[in-house]
Amino acid sequence: EMFGQLTSGLETAWNKLRGVDVLTKENVAEPMRDIRRALLEADVSLPVVRRFVQSVSEQAVGTGLIRGVRPDQQLVKIVHDELVKLMGGEVSDLVFSKSGPTVFLLAGLQGVGKTTVCAKLAFYLKKLGKSCMLVAADVYRPAAIDQLKILGDQVGVPVYAEGTGIKPSEIAKRGLEEAKKKKIDVIIVDTAGRLHSLLSVLLSALVTTFNIEIGITGAILTKLDGDSRGGAALSVKEVSGKPIKLVGRGERMEDLEPFYPDRMAGRILGMGDVLSFVEKAQEVMRQEDAEELQKKIMSAKFDFNDFLKQTRAVAQMGSMSRVIGMIPGMGKITPAQIREAEKSLKIMESMINVMTPEEREKPELLAESPERRKRIASESGKTEQQVSQLIAQLFQMRVRMKNLLGVMEGGSIPALSN
Ligand code: GDP
Repeated sequence: EMFGQLTSGLETAWNKLRGVDVLTKENVAEPMRDIRRALLEADVSLPVVRRFVQSVSEQAVGTGLIRGVRPDQQLVKIVHDELVKLMGGEVSDLVFSKSGPTVFLLAGLQGVGKTTVCAKLAFYLKKLGKSCMLVAADVYRPAAIDQLKILGDQVGVPVYAEGTGIKPSEIAKRGLEEAKKKKIDVIIVDTAGRLHSLLSVLLSALVTTFNIEIGITGAILTKLDGDSRGGAALSVKEVSGKPIKLVGRGERMEDLEPFYPDRMAGRILGMGDVLSFVEKAQEVMRQEDAEELQKKIMSAKFDFNDFLKQTRAVAQMGSMSRVIGMIPGMGKITPAQIREAEKSLKIMESMINVMTPEEREKPELLAESPERRKRIASESGKTEQQVSQLIAQLFQMRVRMKNLLGVMEGGSIPALSN
């Protein structure tokens, strides 16, 4: 696995945060050094690493904790999002010209996989419904021309070649004319990749004749299946300003695929479950909700509507059994206990559902009136004892929240005072 070393390097960082309650400048310092080391070892360029680490540590210390999410999990998510950003954020699609054939010209050092990529790209574009032609303009290596012809045959795409001893720009020019005549959508020009021949192709054949805009528009990352350490995937965008558009993961023609920054970040971290869990928790605990809830707690007005919102938030986070193991200190709960808890949440909900809006807002009404409790019991099909239990539970929660508030005001819950 190409990112294996990077992945395990980053793991040391999270592991140092297991068991901490909150991310502070002090306790993230060492994990940040681990992250820095892991990136440098993966050949990510130093200025990129510096900016990356600084941005991650600012966010780690500056962001409040999400309820139910452990600090180490939160750091995983921050690093993930920053990796995605570093790799360009979104998928960068290939751009096709609206009139006449689109020209893809491949540059790159010998041996990086250009000729192979030409054929792979044609194969890929054919699947998208585009007609393609390959143009053999690597005139310095006869073997490259033969290789292109063989690969073209293999993927069922015509190859335009004139042999060696002709200027690459002339070949490219005539290849393009041929493609226009045949109404071919895309031509892919294989070059020797050397700068001077490339420039001559660009300047003489294409720009002057067809007045099209040129420039490097993107990168294709090859040999992702190999033993490269992954730094290139992380550095290309930041260093060149150009996005990676496609990646090659093998020698077969079908081994070329779009580059998805988020999937790549996910692969690097190897923690898909944690990432989606943190995302869900973020969704559920939106800021407004948290603030509103805090106000309610301050005024000790936590009511049955809030109670319902909380139980639904838990339900939204997926089946309880999956979520509960991720909550600190709850890992030892057995599946039977979880099923029990899920059942009792359902029972609570059915009782709250038959309350009037007034009763939900003022649980005191229920505490004071046996008639109301009787009605709720009969309408929800539960016992009066269950109704009383629910009411007692709500008041207990109010007390617990009041206590929590006391602690918060004392300043000893940094997670919320951040
Ligand atoms: P060029 O000199 O840049 O045109 O490179 P070639 O296309 O001739 O490729 C050089 C070698 O790399 C060939 O043996 C290819 O089969 C191999 N190659 C190209 N792309 C990949 C890839 O994505 N993965 C692996 N493992 N090998 C590749």
